[in-house]
Amino acid sequence: MGSFGEDGLVSLPAPPCAECAEPLQYDVEIRRFVCGNVQCSALGMEVPIWSALQQSGLAASDPPRLPRPVHKGLPVPWVVPRTADYVFWLALDGARCALAHSRWLCQVCGDELPEEAWVLATPEGQVLQAALHAKCKDLALEFCPHLSSGDTRAVPMLVSRDELLADGHPLRDAAPSDPFFLQQWQVTR
Ligand SMILES: [Zn+2]
Ligand SMILES: [Zn+2]
Repeated sequence: MGSFGEDGLVSLPAPPCAECAEPLQYDVEIRRFVCGNVQCSALGMEVPIWSALQQSGLAASDPPRLPRPVHKGLPVPWVVPRTADYVFWLALDGARCALAHSRWLCQVCGDELPEEAWVLATPEGQVLQAALHAKCKDLALEFCPHLSSGDTRAVPMLVSRDELLADGHPLRDAAPSDPFFLQQWQVTR
């Protein structure tokens, strides 16, 4: 655990289908696993990456902490699903993201946040996933510059929980975030 293979030597993980135990297929377009066994009752059913990895025991154990595990020179955020040797960079771990939402945890390191924390917010106030520590925000912007300069045009903002809406409701009164239907946060100012 903890050491990653070189490019090309590591194949995509193939967790088994929960119904038929045949290896699931990875659909690059939707970034989800799908059962392709025509004899399986779950044929064609989409399974989020994090859920398939969790159910199969392939998810890397990854306690909240800094520094983050490093893969090919890049720190892997706590909310990015991975196995011991494969990182699904553009995917989100719904279970961890829901915890970050509901428990005011940092999406990069997974630790608890102070009363005021940083979010990356678009000009319309839409928050990219969840909040972060100051140093974790700096880390994210250093290694993922597209977060702020890309299509989202997100900028870092220091906010308190009272300045956030979750699906239109004050965050403190919001129902817990659901791993399969994550909250969308919005900055109120
Ligand atoms: Zn199946
Ligand atoms: Zn953090």
